[in-house]
Amino acid sequence: MSWSNQSIQSYYRDFLRCARCSHDFEYENPLYHPITLPTCHHTMCRKCINIIRNETKCPQDQISFEINHTPIDQLPTNYPLLMSFYDSSKSYTAAVNDDLQHITAIVHSVRKSSS
Ligand SMILES: [Zn+2]
Ligand SMILES: [Zn+2]
Repeated sequence: MSWSNQSIQSYYRDFLRCARCSHDFEYENPLYHPITLPTCHHTMCRKCINIIRNETKCPQDQISFEINHTPIDQLPTNYPLLMSFYDSSKSYTAAVNDDLQHITAIVHSVRKSSS
């Protein structure tokens, strides 16, 4: 990808808020990290993703996001977008590791509750 920072910011300008609850995405708060749905590319906060994870369609446009049988709570954080909220006083690597641990904890809790 050879986009300039400016065109990336322009591309993401319409996606700076959760498509479901309209809360601004926040780098500092994992609940408001942006998650992008795989088919329609609506971006929602992790809090809303957790709320709608048992649904099979995007609440915005009813497009199914069940592709490749990927559970919705395993969808990747939109890191390019998240980086636009990046606080340079913190380590990006540490933040990624924290997020991976958070995802792992969610997956474990889902597996426990569904078994
Ligand atoms: Zn939300
Ligand atoms: Zn959608």
